[in-house]
Amino acid sequence: MKIGFIGLGNMGGPMAANLAKAGHAVTGFDLVTTPPDGVAAADSAAAAATGADAVITMLPNGAILKSVAAEIIPAMSQGAVFLDCSTVDVASAREVADMADAAGLMPLDAPVSGGISGAAAGTLTFMVGGGDLAFAAVADLFDVMGQKAVHCGPSGNGQAAKICNNMILGATMVATCEAFALADKLGLDRQAMFDVVSTSSGYSWTMNAYCPAPGIGPQSPADNGYAPGFAADLMLKDLRLSQQAAEAVDADTPMGHRAMELYADFVEHEDGAGKDFSAMLPRFESRRRSA
Ligand code: NAD
Repeated sequence: MKIGFIGLGNMGGPMAANLAKAGHAVTGFDLVTTPPDGVAAADSAAAAATGADAVITMLPNGAILKSVAAEIIPAMSQGAVFLDCSTVDVASAREVADMADAAGLMPLDAPVSGGISGAAAGTLTFMVGGGDLAFAAVADLFDVMGQKAVHCGPSGNGQAAKICNNMILGATMVATCEAFALADKLGLDRQAMFDVVSTSSGYSWTMNAYCPAPGIGPQSPADNGYAPGFAADLMLKDLRLSQQAAEAVDADTPMGHRAMELYADFVEHEDGAGKDFSAMLPRFESRRRSA
């Protein structure tokens, strides 16, 4: 396929490189970075989008996505797929999809999980909102860039799935870390705590697969000085998106809200910026009861 790729950062760069390696003709544009090997450079987003069968965007936020969309939609060919893989707010995703629909394009919102290592390895999971035809048209691209693509319903539902998943993830990580810190103060050995919880009803992905305690459980960022992994800053972004969405539809999400507040304190007022989101454990470890 002829592919335009806009936003060649930590995620977009390796995703575009994998598409080129698989034999697709990829033309890329980024305001800052240069395209990876195998990807041709365009001198604007519109130039990258012109004549493409599919245009992929991998951008920081909804405002930037909307401005790029306004630039590329008029340049895109009728019937082409506009595949946005950024994590953005549900409202922006639906607004961009409406603009693309009105211009005769096939929009998909397809945020990912799997992080930078998943982008490099081509093992991302895509959560996809949009039409059946569009989903089928780019199924091969999902196969190259990822290991799984779940069609979640109409436009915006990919973003909805992503923020619901990450709201569970953020709240569960907080719960896992505070439980370890409590166990420490009760004199319960961390290995014993892991052995019990990982095989009991408190088990979770954060405990079993991504244990925040160094030296316990499988290898995780905790074993690497809490270098990300999945950065606390990105968790904060996703938790904020979840609360923005919850507010828009009047949903009661107290755990997600509290997790957002804790990550905001951690990233903006403590020493969490640039650390993995599991570094909540040393944060709790160093604190006394506050509530
Ligand atoms: P990044 O900052 O490394 O990359 C974003 C790129 O977009 C940058 O290179 C920037 O120069 C470019 N850009 C910004 N405005 C532009 C414009 N107007 N035109 C062209 N290029 C522009 O960020 P990233 O880590 O690659 O993340 C991209 C998206 O993926 C975000 O929405 C993020 O939330 C999501 N995401 C990231 C991860 C992760 O682990 N990094 C995991 C899942 C999802």
